[in-house]
Parts: sequence; structure tokens; C-alpha cells
Amino acid sequence: MTKRNPFEVAQKQLDECAQIMKLDSASHAILRVPKREIHVSLPVRMDDGSIKMFQGFRVQYNDARGPTKGGIRFHPDETIDTVRALAAWMTWKCALLDLPLGGGKGGVICNPKEMSQGELERLSRAYIRAISQFIGPDKDVPAPDVYTNPQTMAWMMDEYSKIAGKNQFGVITGKPLSVGGSVGRGDATARGGVYTLREAAKERGIDLKKATVAVQGYGNAGYYVAGLAKSLLGCKVVAVSDSKGGIFTEEGLDPEAVHKHKAETGSVINFPNTKAISNEDILELEVDVLIPAALENVITEKNAPNIKAKIVAELANGPITPEADDILHKNGIHVIPDFLCNAGGVTVSYFEMVQNMYMYYWDEKEIHEHLDKKMTTAYHSVLNASKKYNINMRQAAYVLAVERVVDAMKVRGWI
Ligand code: NAD
Repeated sequence: MTKRNPFEVAQKQLDECAQIMKLDSASHAILRVPKREIHVSLPVRMDDGSIKMFQGFRVQYNDARGPTKGGIRFHPDETIDTVRALAAWMTWKCALLDLPLGGGKGGVICNPKEMSQGELERLSRAYIRAISQFIGPDKDVPAPDVYTNPQTMAWMMDEYSKIAGKNQFGVITGKPLSVGGSVGRGDATARGGVYTLREAAKERGIDLKKATVAVQGYGNAGYYVAGLAKSLLGCKVVAVSDSKGGIFTEEGLDPEAVHKHKAETGSVINFPNTKAISNEDILELEVDVLIPAALENVITEKNAPNIKAKIVAELANGPITPEADDILHKNGIHVIPDFLCNAGGVTVSYFEMVQNMYMYYWDEKEIHEHLDKKMTTAYHSVLNASKKYNINMRQAAYVLAVERVVDAMKVRGWI
């Protein structure tokens, strides 16, 4: 199967949304392409003394609502089209959460697994030097993404601060706590998803204290969501999986114990007193809530008719194909779309920016309260839009986000 060009997918999604909301042609044309792209060539001294060239990108998709925001990926297969698509999706995600931010994304073609810490530090600093004129706390604020982490962010912030001649913690988020990071970032994506699940259950009349949950994927998102579904909502997590396979028990799992088992053995499989279940079967379990938290395109037109969950919370990006989406909708399954369900991470990144600007830092309780308010409000806006236009939750999320960006462009006089 040939891989779809992600930017063509993003443009197609916008085109469908434009049709639903009868978007004017000028707004549509502006939103189909990035506002600005920066392509940079980065000479980096390697440990053996040689100079190697790397290629980097930063795409600032739309900044009508505020400075652009989005992660930086270090990946050997990075392409400009992936970065463009992700920058477009960040634009819609920030607008949907009503954050005063636009959307951006960055990437460098490199293989971090084959590079030393020193080489990675020099590459990180070279990238920031190359794009320094185009970023800043009120222009464009990057964050970690695939194969970049708080240490990478600290180097980048330091390099930018040297150029600026003063500390500029607000230039980047996802930093370590000692240099302006925020508490509550670790589980923010999962926590945000759990808040939307709580609201969806109310809408569907499901008592979560009696509900069963299956989670596909047990990494950062999956592990935290399993724990929070149990501790915050009182759900019974009956099945979880990772790349090696899954486990199931009607009695309900202890997510912490499973996490410890995975840390010791490398996988959730063979956890005591559970039955083995495949990654395909976990999706079709007779549960109330299904949380795909691993890969894209796992629910397709082939298995969508067999999904029995009442709610599917898309913590992963793109786990449901468009064809499967239609089938789930027809079958009355409530889907919490990815760019709503997994927006907790960017929301707490935004809180990090706010705290950096204030020079005053919130405690975890305050972060959780603000996150809950943002996620709950966004969920209900999407739900209301889906009812108003009689469209599914994903289409409603798109319409709402695009409406907000268009409104900002119009009042600014761009159109
Ligand atoms: P991760 O690398 O920490 O974890 C991924 C998990 O998926 C691992 O447990 C891995 O074993 C499992 N996995 C891999 N292949 C699998 C397969 N074939 N079947 C079942 N499980 C498989 O990644 P993550 O940060 O938890 O991200 C997971 C998803 O959530 C991605 O789609 C990501 O884009 C999305 N997401 C994450 C965040 C975040 O803050 N971590 C934010 C937004 C979206």
C-alpha cells in the first residue's frame, strides 16, 4: 500500500470541512497552505572531527490567533509534507481548545539513535541558531515531539537566550522544571483525554464507576490513561496491550502493577492472572470504552463493524480511518476525535508559556483545574456544534476550529 501524503490528507480534511460550513473561497485558499516555511541547512561538527550537513524545517502554518506553537521532531524519515500537515493540525487543535495560539511544527532529518549526546546538543543549537530570527515567545514557540525531549528543549532555550542576550524561557516549552518547565506536563495528554471521556459518558448516560475500559498501547499516553481512568473515574481497566501483545482480565487490572511488570520485563504480556489477547482482538472487546493509544489507522473499514465499545476515545493520533469513522458513526458509537481528546499536552504547554511570562509558577492542583476547564469547555463546544450542524464529532471539531481561525483572519482584515 502506498503511504498517503499527510499534507494532502490535511488539505482534504480542510476541503471537506469547507464544504460543510460553506467557507468563503478566500479563507479556504489561505488555510490550504502554510503562511511561512523556513528550510535550513545545518553544518554540525561530529565527534570524529568531520562536518556533517543536516536539513531542518520550521513551518508556521497560521498565526491569526497568536504566536504559532508546535513540536520539533528529530527523525530520519522526516519530510516537509509531514511537517506541513502537523503544523496545520496544530492550528486546528490550538483553535479548538481556544488557546491564543496559531499552529506550527518543526523537524530535522537525522537519526538520534546513531548520534552521541554531544552531537545532538550541537545539532539542537545549530537548528535554533538557524531559525532564531523567526521564533520567539510572541512569534513562534516550539516544544518536544518525536525523539526530542526536555534536555533538547533546555539546550535550545539556552542557545536562543545567548542570541537574545537575556534569559528567554518562554521561547520553548517542555523544558525541565529547573529552567521554567511546568508541573503536570507528564500526564497532561492522558489527563485531558480522561476529562473528555468523563463528559462523553455523561452525554451517553454511562456510569463510569461500572464501566469497563480497554487501552491499546502502554507508552506515555496509554499507561497514564489506564491509571487515571481507574483513579479519577473509577473505571475497571480490563485489557491493555503494547507492541508485543495484550492482556485481559474480567477482574480489572492494577495499572501501576502492570507498569512495573513492563519496566521489569519489557512488555505488559505475561502479567500474572491474565489471559493473552492480540492487538486486533483488544479493539473488538465487549467493553464500554475503547482507548486507542498507540498507532494510526488501527480501526479500518474491515474491523469497524466489529467494534462494540460505546465510546472510542482517540488518544493516539489518527487511529480511525475516514471510512471506519463513517461506520462507527452509523453504529451510534461516540468518538472523541484525536485533536480534542489528546489536546491536554499542548494545553499544559500553553500554561507553561503563561507561567514563564508571569514569572510565577502554579502548583499541580491549579494546573489540573485549568486543564479540566479547558478540556470540558472544548468537549461541549464540539458536542454542541455536532448537534447544531448534524455532523459527527470529528467534523464538528474541524468546523469549530476553522470558524475560529477564519474569524480572527476576518477581524484582522486579512480577508
Ligand atoms: P510511546 O512511544 O510512549 O508509546 C507507544 C505505545 O504503543 C508503546 O507501549 C508501544 O509498545 C505501543 N505499540 C507500538 N506498536 C504497537 C502495536 N502494533 N499495537 C499495540 N501497541 C503498540 O508513545 P506515546 O507518547 O504514548 O504516543 C502514543 C500515541 O499518542 C501517538 O499516536 C501519539 O501521537 C499520541 N499522542 C501522544 C501525546 C503525548 O503527550 N505523549 C500527545 C498527543 C498525542
